[in-house]
Amino acid sequence: MALLEIQNLNITYKTDKKEIRAVKDFSLNIDTKDSIGIVGESGSGKSTLAMGILKLLPKGTTKTTGKILFDGVDLLELTEEEFRKLRWKDISVVFQKSMNSLSPVHKIGFQMKDIYRVHEPDARDEEVRKRILELFRFVNLSDRVYNLYPHELSGGMMQRVSIALSLIYYPKLLILDEATTALDVVTQGQILDEIMKLEEALDLTRIMITHDISVVASSCKKVVVMYGGCLLESGYVYDVLVNPKHPYTQGLLNSFPDFIGEKKDLRGIPGSIPDLSLEYKSCIFTNRCKKAKSICFEKIPKIKTFPNEWNVACHLLGGFDGE
Ligand code: ATP
Ligand code: SF4
Ligand code: MG
Repeated sequence: MALLEIQNLNITYKTDKKEIRAVKDFSLNIDTKDSIGIVGESGSGKSTLAMGILKLLPKGTTKTTGKILFDGVDLLELTEEEFRKLRWKDISVVFQKSMNSLSPVHKIGFQMKDIYRVHEPDARDEEVRKRILELFRFVNLSDRVYNLYPHELSGGMMQRVSIALSLIYYPKLLILDEATTALDVVTQGQILDEIMKLEEALDLTRIMITHDISVVASSCKKVVVMYGGCLLESGYVYDVLVNPKHPYTQGLLNSFPDFIGEKKDLRGIPGSIPDLSLEYKSCIFTNRCKKAKSICFEKIPKIKTFPNEWNVACHLLGGFDGE
């Protein structure tokens, strides 16, 4: 059984004037120990997907349908209180600018100990301190941070504290939404190396949302390419990033001739992302796709599955679904 099974997920923001369909008919299975990079241009729905999994979307102004099964339990059916038992302990998240939820009047170590005790009330002081200092080393922070106040940390240090905090219970699922983007390359590399070791040792599963394909290439086993709220291609990094099947992924990678190396952004395909307030009955990529045929304007392409868990949504590709 997959650790996370997302089935036909649709997430719509309702504003005064229109409805923004930010995630559309999105399905994905994530196995234990998978590390999945989710890439896509700005506005493609990556953070909305993450917030949907984390039940952090505002209830009154969003509509979510579908299923998000975590260990077989549908997260969308859980009450806030039931979900709170999973948050941090089983599923944790770090955003790009993780809000400083720490109190300004207590030292970092003291607060992290308190947070640890929410789920582990009987943990011994020395044991918790050891765990926190170990996590500091993972994220390249010195021990002295333990005794500092939040205002004494730079933005980058605070971000690393947030990453350490996200690992405090060694969760089953860690979601990083541009969490390492603002850090220098060396620190980012070091943190991802440590997280990859944890994945091996502790069966940690990671969803890594980023604009940086080189980070996905170097730290993830699998990749999902999102566009206009849709999954266009997913599979193993060594398949999808080496020999992409979808015209959008091909375009992205053409704009990254050597994606292993210097950091670059996902721009480079002419045109702009679709208007998500419109309802599309066609392929979402038609207006930018050089290979578009008449069928592309008439039907939404179904996901076709190729060997090695390789999924592609494009009319031009044959598959096993008989189309
Ligand atoms: P980025 O790479 O810039 O972080 P993203 O892929 O994370 O982009 P989302 O933030 O999920 O994209 O946004 C998806 C779509 O939903 C966009 O069209 C965005 O404008 C819209 N959107 C996001 N948050 C809201 C909101 N609170 N209310 C209305 N629309 C929203
Ligand atoms: Fe291009 Fe058509 Fe494939 Fe969409 S379905 S990516 S428009 S070829
Ligand atoms: Mg985002």
